[in-house]
Amino acid sequence: MLTDYHVHLRPDEDDTPPERYFTPGNAERYREAAEERGIAELGVAEHIHRFTQSLQVWEHPWWRLWARDDVDAYCAFVREETDLRLGIEADYVAGRENRLATFLEQREWDFVIGSVHFVRDAAVDLEGPDWEHVWGRGDRPDRIWQRYFETLAEAARSGLYDIMAHPDLVKVWGSARPQPERDPRHYYEPAVEAMLEAGVAMELSTAGLRKPVGELYPGPALLAMAVDAGLPIALSSDAHVPGQVGFRYDDAVAALRDAGVTELCVFERRERRLEPLG
Ligand SMILES: [Zn+2]
Ligand SMILES: [Zn+2]
Repeated sequence: MLTDYHVHLRPDEDDTPPERYFTPGNAERYREAAEERGIAELGVAEHIHRFTQSLQVWEHPWWRLWARDDVDAYCAFVREETDLRLGIEADYVAGRENRLATFLEQREWDFVIGSVHFVRDAAVDLEGPDWEHVWGRGDRPDRIWQRYFETLAEAARSGLYDIMAHPDLVKVWGSARPQPERDPRHYYEPAVEAMLEAGVAMELSTAGLRKPVGELYPGPALLAMAVDAGLPIALSSDAHVPGQVGFRYDDAVAALRDAGVTELCVFERRERRLEPLG
């Protein structure tokens, strides 16, 4: 089986209202793209920050910029008008775990994806003049990588999530940013341990192939370490348009097979089971 759970029904752009994107016709376009690529399990995971209710969790300027839609209308649409699995991409916000838990517990998800787009208030991959960036303080790359992976470990341990998304997102800028001097496995190890202890799955995402870094998330060393530790793997494309569903899955499946992965995670009502890969 192939899966694609980390899928957005619209681009991260202005003028993408739910009336136009949360429609049976649009869901059908994603379903058709998935069928063409042999993907049986398809789920959607809208960004938490696109919903007004997210401001009860955090009021970061990036979230305030985007929070316009009603999360319950989104859930009702996916459940009642589509055959897609219902998920959400809920950024980890350190110190706001209780509020995040309240937000998540109020709805019945098939899976909850945790991502680290912020290390405290500083953005990892979101550029803009109105907020801090992890690269903006002149910290050494090693310090930035360490803090990113510590936050990933904290997120996993929060118990809020089923899947940790794009686990080495900090590498997104590739050679456009200085690289850490230490072997990055030094930073991966505590995060892998945290995911293992928390019982969450790790995502293999093809989104990194569309970014400056031009690699899968995670890269081979982190994937090997995770597989070696026995972490279950969830496969996704992080598509934002139907044409990106299953994006470069040939590369993803090859990387998984090389790493010795034989099964993928499948989720329903936050229960996880494993199905043979392929
Ligand atoms: Zn993300
Ligand atoms: Zn995403």
